Parts: sequence; C-alpha cells; structure tokens
Amino acid sequence: MKTAPVYLDYNATAPLRPAAKAAMLAALDAPHNASSVHALGRAGKKILENARDQVAALVGASPAQVIFNSGATEGNNTVLRHFANDRVLVSAIEHPSVLEVLPHAEKIPVTKDGIVDLAELEKLLQQKPGVALVSVMLVNNETGAIQPIREIAEISKRHGALVHTDAAQAAGKLPLNLLELGCDFLTLSSHKIGGPQGAGALVLGLCGITPKLLTGGGQEKFARSGTENLPAIAGFGAAAIEAANALNDFKKLETLRGRLEQSLAPRVTIYAQNASRVANTSMFSLPGARAETLLMALDLEGVCVSNGSACSSGTVRPSHVLKAMDVPADLAASALRVSMGWATTDADIDAFLAAFEKIAARVGKRTANA
Ligand code: PMP
Repeated sequence: MKTAPVYLDYNATAPLRPAAKAAMLAALDAPHNASSVHALGRAGKKILENARDQVAALVGASPAQVIFNSGATEGNNTVLRHFANDRVLVSAIEHPSVLEVLPHAEKIPVTKDGIVDLAELEKLLQQKPGVALVSVMLVNNETGAIQPIREIAEISKRHGALVHTDAAQAAGKLPLNLLELGCDFLTLSSHKIGGPQGAGALVLGLCGITPKLLTGGGQEKFARSGTENLPAIAGFGAAAIEAANALNDFKKLETLRGRLEQSLAPRVTIYAQNASRVANTSMFSLPGARAETLLMALDLEGVCVSNGSACSSGTVRPSHVLKAMDVPADLAASALRVSMGWATTDADIDAFLAAFEKIAARVGKRTANA
C-alpha cells in the first residue's frame, strides 16, 4: 500500500485546515453573490463580512481595513503599481511578486544573515528625490528570517516614505498588529495559513491611500472589482481564526526544528541561523550536492521539501535570497528548505532525517570518488 508523502513544504502551501474546508463547503451550498440584494445574496454578504472580521483579527486591524483579493501576488502588485511613477525601495530578498513589479525599484541590501541592512536603508532614503514607498517582507519565505519591520517603518517615516510589508509568511507564525508594525499596507495569502489557494487580502493602514489594480463592478467598496471568491474567502477566514489561536502550538515547532538542525549540523551549512527566524523554517546546504538531485531523491523516498522558493513552474533557479546574503553560488546550488506547520509531527522529521542520511551518504561517496 502506498503511504501519503511526508509533507515538509508549508511555506510553498500549507495543507487545508479541516475548519477551512468545512467553511468552504458551507459557502458552496448555495449561489451566493455577495452583491445581490436578495436573500441568498444577503447570506453571501454575511459570510463575506464574517470572514473579514476573522482576517482583520489576525492582523489586529479593523474589518474596514481589509480588502479581499486573490492572494499575496495580487496584493503586492496592487501596492507596488500604485507607485509606478515614484522612487521605490524594495529589499533584495523580496518575493518575485514584489521584486519584479517595478523595474526601476532600488534594492536595499541584506546582511549575511539575511536581514535588511538598516544603515543602507537610511543611506538610500537620504538620497534625492525622496522615496515614496519602502517595501520589505515581514518574514522571508526561504530562510524564515524575521525582518525588523517596526524599525524599518520608523526610519522610512522619518524620511516621509510610506511602508508596505508582505506578511504572507508571517501570518499565523508571529503575533501581528498592523498599527504596532507602523505599516501603511500589508499583504496576506490564505494558502500559507491553511486556507485555500486563490484568496488573500490587502490590509490598509491609516495613510488614507487605497491602491487599486482592478476596476469594474465596484466590489470591496470599489477597492477591488470582481465578484468575491466567497468559498475561498470563507475558508481563509476560518483558517485565520485557527492560525491566530494556534500561535503557541506553532512556536513548539522550534523544538522539531532544533532536533532537525542538530542532526544535520555536522554535514550542512544552515542559513540565517544567527537571525531571528520563525519556528517552522530551516534552509541549509549540503556541500557537493545539487538541490535538484536532492529534491528528486527525497521525492522518491516520499518526502516533499523545496529548494527555496517554489513559485516558478517547477524550475529550479538559483536563490536570489542566498545570492543577496553573499552565499557562494556553488553552495547556494545545493540549498534545501524544510518548512513545517500545523500538522507536522515528530515522525515527519524522523522520516526526513532517515531519507536525508541515506541520500547524503550516497552524495558523500560520490564526492570521495570524484
Ligand atoms: N509573498 C511571499 C513571501 C510568498 O512566500 C508568496 C508565496 N510563495 C507570495 C508572496 C505569493 O503568494 P500567493 O501565492 O498568494 O500569490
């Protein structure tokens, strides 16, 4: 009998939480267009506003600040494109949905530990003309490094810039409060927290600007036209509540990661180890190996991990994050990312370690024979 794969790729997408699935199934039960005035439309509106309350609670915002959309890619594009004619700074380790939106955006470098260099940020902000927007992610999807967003916002505000943070990898992993973070725009993605794919939110701070990407039917108070994906949004809301209530459980993943890294330590280079990291993520390189070979060998052993960012159509590209951290190209070429989440168990880590040891021993032999 074939057993289910061991899934350790939560940063790519998390398994759907049962509560999210139940909320989605309930929302699928009737034709709900939340804009319709009849009874089923009103029922849809209720589902929508309930989810808005739940997502707002996840980030300590008021429901009126939440604009539902299709995910963090859309949220990031919406914000960045609003500043298409302005000077914009983005960190060098952003997700491509930030990095590739504005070709003229200037890159803020990071330290060897993968943390935004605040002195370099300040230098860029001092140059003229003034910067309109600074965009830095809250948690890096590859290394798990937590960025000092509060300080970044403080420095940026001193220079008159607005601040956006991509919190796709932070939600459900850290307590979040938009006001405390001092950000003007925050993006979220449902499928990173155990909700369905294809839903997300742009959460607005208090700067009074509402960036818009799509116009049309005027949904989401004219901020994001297009009929809301109600079942997905209902699932997103249910996942948001669960993720917010499970922060203490999430923290316990640190013990699993500690065990994982301790076992791997003699053979691998672990990234961002000196930075504050979220509890679920470990990125490391096995010198002499190639990530794609390791990935395939692990896959054959029934273990799913990633080589960092899994967002491009199955292609294995060298990590721009590791490059920005000054990691030599040959070492970066062997980087793997293990990311855990709400359903990860001790046994999953045991299975990974057993498979990895087997594969690493083969790589070691090959290197010795070379
Ligand atoms: N930002 C970050 C940091 C991510 O990890 C991802 C997903 N890999 C995205 C944005 C894109 O999110 P979505 O899939 O919701 O478009």
